[in-house]
Amino acid sequence: MSARVLVVDDILPNVKLLEAKLSSEYYDVLTAVSGEEALRRAENDSPDIILLDVMMPGMDGFEVCRRIKQNPTLAHIPVVMVTALTDSEDRVRGLEAGADDFLSKPVNDTALMARVRSLVRLKMTVDEWRARETTASQLGVVEHEANVMSEPVENAKILVVEDQRFESDKIADTLHTDDDSVIPVDSGRQAMEYASQNDFDLMIVSLNLKKEDGLRLCSHLRSNEKTRSVPIIMLGTDENMDKIAHGLEIGAHDYIIRPIDRNELLARARTQIRRKRFQERLRANYEVSLSMALTDSLTGLYNRRYLEVHLQKLLQKNQETRKNICVLTLDIDHFKEVNDTNGHSAGDEVLKTFATRLKDNLRSFDLVARLGGEEFVAIMPDTSNEMALFIAERLRRSIGEKSFKCNIPAGFLDITTSIGGAIIEPGAHTVKDVLARADKMLYEAKHSGRNCTVFEKIGKLNPGDFKQESRPLIE
Ligand code: GH3
Ligand code: MG
Ligand code: MG
Repeated sequence: MSARVLVVDDILPNVKLLEAKLSSEYYDVLTAVSGEEALRRAENDSPDIILLDVMMPGMDGFEVCRRIKQNPTLAHIPVVMVTALTDSEDRVRGLEAGADDFLSKPVNDTALMARVRSLVRLKMTVDEWRARETTASQLGVVEHEANVMSEPVENAKILVVEDQRFESDKIADTLHTDDDSVIPVDSGRQAMEYASQNDFDLMIVSLNLKKEDGLRLCSHLRSNEKTRSVPIIMLGTDENMDKIAHGLEIGAHDYIIRPIDRNELLARARTQIRRKRFQERLRANYEVSLSMALTDSLTGLYNRRYLEVHLQKLLQKNQETRKNICVLTLDIDHFKEVNDTNGHSAGDEVLKTFATRLKDNLRSFDLVARLGGEEFVAIMPDTSNEMALFIAERLRRSIGEKSFKCNIPAGFLDITTSIGGAIIEPGAHTVKDVLARADKMLYEAKHSGRNCTVFEKIGKLNPGDFKQESRPLIE
């Protein structure tokens, strides 16, 4: 898929020039000739990156950038300011407005392409997490509040790889403005050592180290599991443009040209820290929503959705390993009465204890899920038929033999459960069929008096035959 670039400039030849350059690299180019049009196109045409002229009549580039970055639906789109201005004051103004980078006119081709590629790549990653978060929020499990600009920039942990003492002192001193904690090192070896033991928010790497190649270090940091997602800002001189372009290719996020301007350093560091934190928050939200989407909040057991996916996989694997799977369905007896007599919250307490007892009486690789209401399923892979019957009976006893502690005047409730079981032999089965087979047995258990276990092809188990387990549970 080719990335979509929105080029904004009030002077048509400038637009045409950038359009030609980008189109020749197979980018899909959109154009706008005013700030207002830029905002419209950003909203309607979802570009992957915006190249934004600073000086425009009416709404200037700073204002356009600020509005994009304040809009939660647009803030994640990287913005590169394109300007004739070289005044660092303006650069900083742009970065503070939320711009991700600057390019100066006339635009250097290498810098342009490297920059566009690296920012587009970054956006793709963020998009991926945003998409998952959106799904999660549609399921109602997380609140969707995603604005990169609202992330805090203070108290970051920053690794600085620089062997010129006065430069690293200057960097540390500057970053202390944001109460960042800065760890200065002067070699790649030391950098890797610290990086493996710390969680950094940002790494600043000199491309002018005397004894080694800073670019090689960047490449190591990008491929190392621990540091892969930590942003890198390269430090170089005007003569390092080729190296810098290469660095952006291999995944460094940004660069600063010496002499280091304090404001620019601070602004660029903030941009990277914000993005990193934003990405982390999306990921964390996603993980929470994932666990919420797959587990039942009352009992903590897996839910039906998870059970279905997992059972499907087991049934497939089962065809190769040629082993049986035991499927049990369990349903609490007269549970409606429990609710009607003692209230819904007593019912909830019972469900929680019921779940705990099931878990405590199964092996860690067995699966127990709550399908809804007072219906549960236990899946036991790799279990002999005989063992399956013993376990089913033991589960039933674990419910019926001991009262359930409950916050009601009597202090406890007596609960029983009916169980249906089916032993699934290797073959082509669907999840639906398998669950229906066990369910049919559960139905029979209910009809033959409750508080009993009925197995397919075997019938109702006689509790007396399964009092003592003849063999240990773990085979
Ligand atoms: P049987 O022995 O035939 O299974 O009878 P039963 O009363 O257990 O079965 P029925 O399916 O008629 O009733 C199930 C009850 O479970 C009805 C519903 O009020 C209750 N229930 C379902 N989900 C929950 C829940 O999350 N919490 C509580 N407290 N009750 C629930
Ligand atoms: Mg019931
Ligand atoms: Mg029921």
